[in-house]
Amino acid sequence: MNISSSKTLFERAQQSIPGGVNSPVRAFKSVGGTPVFIDSAKGAYLHDADGNKYIDFINSWGPMILGHAHEPVIRAIEEKAAGSTSFGAPTQLEIEIAELIKKMAPGIDLIRMVSSGTEACMSAIRLARGYTGRNKFIKFEGCYHGHADCFLVKAGSGVATFNIQKVPGVTAGVAADTLTCSYNDIAAVESLVAAHKNEIAAIIIEPVAGNMGCVLPNEGYLQALRKICDREKILLIFDEVMTGFRLAKGGAQEKFGVTADLITYGKIIGAGMPVGAFAGRKEIMQHIAPVGAVYQAGTLSGNPLAMIAGYTLLSELNAHPEIYEELEKKGAYLEKGLREVLSPKPYPFTINRVGSMISVFFSANEVCDFAGATAANIEVFNKFFHHMLDCGVYLPPSAFETWFISNAITYQDLDRTIEAASRF
Ligand SMILES: *Cc1c(COP(=O)(O)O)cnc(C)c1O
Repeated sequence: MNISSSKTLFERAQQSIPGGVNSPVRAFKSVGGTPVFIDSAKGAYLHDADGNKYIDFINSWGPMILGHAHEPVIRAIEEKAAGSTSFGAPTQLEIEIAELIKKMAPGIDLIRMVSSGTEACMSAIRLARGYTGRNKFIKFEGCYHGHADCFLVKAGSGVATFNIQKVPGVTAGVAADTLTCSYNDIAAVESLVAAHKNEIAAIIIEPVAGNMGCVLPNEGYLQALRKICDREKILLIFDEVMTGFRLAKGGAQEKFGVTADLITYGKIIGAGMPVGAFAGRKEIMQHIAPVGAVYQAGTLSGNPLAMIAGYTLLSELNAHPEIYEELEKKGAYLEKGLREVLSPKPYPFTINRVGSMISVFFSANEVCDFAGATAANIEVFNKFFHHMLDCGVYLPPSAFETWFISNAITYQDLDRTIEAASRF
């Protein structure tokens, strides 16, 4: 595959952008080689600067659940843009998207729009602290909740990919209020809670982890967290930035039948525009300014282009619940196909999947936490990544990221993907 234009662009990018990229995992630093520069995308396919075409399993890290340049979304953005790109004043559209999300997901009386998943999680933690009057919170090793200081402790995503043990710039004071324990380990949560009685404001979790690769909650695990939170008056925060509107209309809350106290969104909610949100019961959410004193704001929050993009995509997901059945079928088809063609010798593997989130770990053991994810063979993954890329299949350039299936993908695309894997 010729990627000479990408190589030239990458050289040039590094002269004016740190590492040549505006978000670290894009740089291919862990898998090696040159990141391909994307020119455009349509449906399930990416087109790079050299004219190569790829089947996309990143889908902008989640948002493109119905594929790239989805016609109704593009049309809506174009129409909206003619009426100006931002007002810094309220609009009817913001009410409509809020009402729609309340219909789709459980546990939401009030929802506040922000511009990224990072902002959503950062604000949810501030609100939990303001509401409970407690400072500490629990997060899980390998989970990623954006790059706010307090979350960069044993974090997933790029922090895990680049094996950064301690992020310079995060003060010891901030880190001290972040308690961590292993995913899927209820006993560890119980002992942290016991050791910090009445000090813990919140437990924040990716209800299905996607930032250490795809890791599912054990049966009953989310329910057990819910019980602990109720008993200890701790707020349970589901970070549904990845899982929201992907696993079901109502995200992981609906899929696993557990309602959180606060829910954060990103990715699909903006259909590829910069959007995040945090939401929950009125009793908690009304502590946010201007009703309450927990301050949170944003010049571009509720931006009309972002809102119309999100509203258009969410409306379609809401009107067509069969999309989730189709995604489940496609996910199962890919999983089955990969299991059949990947050879356990010389590379033992394990596959985790829920709906349209899937990961291949090159490990002989089950992966149910961060230790399991890091025990997998990263070198083999990197080789696999490049093999697939050469075959025109674009996977996340990290063993610590889930793959996302869009509903624009066809069974023929899945067959091509499986066939490519068979040649690894
Ligand atoms: C992507 C992600 C975030 C951060 O969202 P940004 O929009 O990148 O700031 C937070 N939490 C989870 C679970 C994510 O996957």
